[in-house]
Amino acid sequence: MASQELKHRLETTIENIPDFPIPGIQFKDISPIFLNPKLYEEVIEDLVKFSKGKVDSVCGIESRGYLFGIAIAVALEVPFILIRKAGKLPPPVVSEKYDLEYGSAEIETREGHIKKGQRILIHDDLLATGGTTEAAAKLVEKQGAEVVQFSFLTALKDLKGEEKLKKFNAEIYYILE
Ligand code: AMP
Repeated sequence: MASQELKHRLETTIENIPDFPIPGIQFKDISPIFLNPKLYEEVIEDLVKFSKGKVDSVCGIESRGYLFGIAIAVALEVPFILIRKAGKLPPPVVSEKYDLEYGSAEIETREGHIKKGQRILIHDDLLATGGTTEAAAKLVEKQGAEVVQFSFLTALKDLKGEEKLKKFNAEIYYILE
């Protein structure tokens, strides 16, 4: 959907940092996007085009999912819901635990922010193993809403995160495949 020109500019703006935060990991740093307001605007326009008319709320995953998710929701004129790491939101909250390579993690939303029957877009900057996004989708579904779309700027395809999202039968979009 995105023009080749936008894809090229995004690809050359996101920085690939080898061996960060630990050896063997190639970290994708999206922060240079915010040095270029025009590029940021075009990224949002593209993500908005994907979701226009299809969702009732946008859920953003802490923390980089907020940087784009709020702008998407405002442009779509729909609510934005924060999915946060456990312990950051005041009660009442709804939680979902998930496994990490070592140990486990937990994410939460405020109770009542997601409404039953809503069509939800889950947005994050990057899909890696898919563990966090899968847990986010379960958190949405346990509140009686439906995940109809996932969007990301890009994915680490080798980690096969998409496999974990197939069961939700939702559309999946990346600006950079
Ligand atoms: P995951 O649960 O593995 O899909 O990844 C969880 C989060 O970690 C995503 O929201 C990404 O923002 C971040 N992340 C994981 N791997 C990387 C990476 N190589 N570079 C930048 N961010 C990453």
